[in-house]
Amino acid sequence: MYRGRFAPSPTGPLHAGSLVAALASWLDARAHGGQWLVRIEDVDGPRCPPGMDVFILGQLAALGLRPDEPPVWQSRRADVYQAALDRLVASGHAYGCACTRAEIAALAGPRPRHGELVYPGTCRHGTNGRAARAWRLRVEGVVDWCDRRLGPQTQDLQAEVGDFVLKRADGLWAYQLAVVVDDAEQGITDIVRGEDLADNTLRQIALQRRLSLPTPRYLHTPLVLAEDGHKLSKQNGAAALDLADPAARLREAAACLGLETDAAARPASDLLAEVVARWRAAK
Ligand code: GLU
Repeated sequence: MYRGRFAPSPTGPLHAGSLVAALASWLDARAHGGQWLVRIEDVDGPRCPPGMDVFILGQLAALGLRPDEPPVWQSRRADVYQAALDRLVASGHAYGCACTRAEIAALAGPRPRHGELVYPGTCRHGTNGRAARAWRLRVEGVVDWCDRRLGPQTQDLQAEVGDFVLKRADGLWAYQLAVVVDDAEQGITDIVRGEDLADNTLRQIALQRRLSLPTPRYLHTPLVLAEDGHKLSKQNGAAALDLADPAARLREAAACLGLETDAAARPASDLLAEVVARWRAAK
C-alpha cells in the first residue's frame, strides 16, 4: 500500500515553491491509489510562529489537498525521538559530543557544506570527561541511492558530512532523526519533496539502517526559482500564496512539474482530477 506525505516546517506560510512539493506528493499518492498524510515538522519551535501550522493546514484545505489521516505534530513526539536516540546510543551508533561550535570550526578544515561544518570526529571515542552537549550519529563511508527523477546518487558521508547531529546542544531534535522516525512509524513508502532536500537523503538512509527501518522510495521535485535565480524559500521572503483563485495556483504548480493544463476557470477539484490523470500517464 502506497503511503506518501507532505511534511511542512511551519516557519512561514506555503509559497509557490512549497506548493509544488505538496502537490507532487499528493499527485503521486493519488496516482498510485495510495494515501497522503500531512506532518507538521515543528521540532525547531523557536522558528515556528504561533498559529502557522493551522494557517498552512487551511491553505492546503483551500487548495483541495486534504490528508487521509489527521495531521501529526513533531513537537508532541519528543518521547519517540528520545527512544530512538537511546537505541542508537545503546548499540554504539550514536555518541555524546562535548564540542562547542567554535571548537568544531577551529578543526573542521576548509570544507563547509551548505554552511555546516564537517564534524572532525573529536568525541567519537569519548568526551574526556566533559559533559555531552549534543548527540551525533557515527557515519561510515560511501552510500548509494537512487532517486526516481535524479537517478543514481552517491555521497561519502564521512568525508562530506561527518558524524551528524541527532539532538542539538540546545536540546532540540534534529530534522534528520525526527523525519526518519516519523516516516517509518507512519508507514511512509514514498517520499516526494523538493530537490533542496535531496542532499539529506543519505543521512536519512544511514539512520534508517542503524535503526533497522525500511528505506522508502524517493522522488525529489524541481525547485521553483525566484526571479533573481535563487530558490524560493520562506527565508528569502517568498510571498504566501494568494488563494483567491486556488485553481490558478494549482495550475502554476502543475506547470512547474511539467503538467500543462488549460487556463479555463474552474473549481480546484476539477483541476486536481485532470492533473492526477496526467501525472499517472507520465509516470
Ligand atoms: N520539513 C521539511 C521542510 O519543510 C521537509 C521535510 C521532508 O519532506 O523530508 O523543508
